[in-house]
Amino acid sequence: MVKCAIALGSNLGDSKQILNQALDLLSQTSGIELISHSSWYETVPVGPPQPNYVNGCAILEIELLPENLLQILLKIEQQFGRIRQERWGPRILDLDILLYDDLILELPNLTIPHPRMNERAFVLVPLAEIAAHWIEPISRQTILQLSQAIDCSGIINRNSLLK
Ligand code: AMP
Repeated sequence: MVKCAIALGSNLGDSKQILNQALDLLSQTSGIELISHSSWYETVPVGPPQPNYVNGCAILEIELLPENLLQILLKIEQQFGRIRQERWGPRILDLDILLYDDLILELPNLTIPHPRMNERAFVLVPLAEIAAHWIEPISRQTILQLSQAIDCSGIINRNSLLK
């Protein structure tokens, strides 16, 4: 079993429900055990003007290669009708692999750790809630240290409102 961290995001439709359904689908997938997930956060979007996002992170224990996990995430995104349009544009469901144990991997279609995670408050704030002491293998800093190094304003814990 390998421990891995993923990010979930949505800013179209009933985002909180979509993210919960995505977690359900993941936990029903063979080779995947859902260990924990963060609160859901409302976050101000990066990129073109669009609705606020709901973001969160989850820790999985998996018996899958990174490429196979990516295929499963892409399939779940497609089940929610995600159509790939403009980069950074609005989306029903976005699933990214953040960390896969302490693996560093660079394939044409898959980079781990996720290449932009260290600068993204909407990833680091929820991830720090469930994996504060996990060491990001490139910077060799913990998720907590990385989250303390960036501006985290605009990341609002909406769990009570979004439940
Ligand atoms: P996006 O929809 O903008 O998140 O981009 C998704 C595409 O990024 C996927 O089709 C993957 O091939 C590629 N990709 C590269 N690294 C990762 C990663 N760590 N997690 C998810 N997708 C990735």
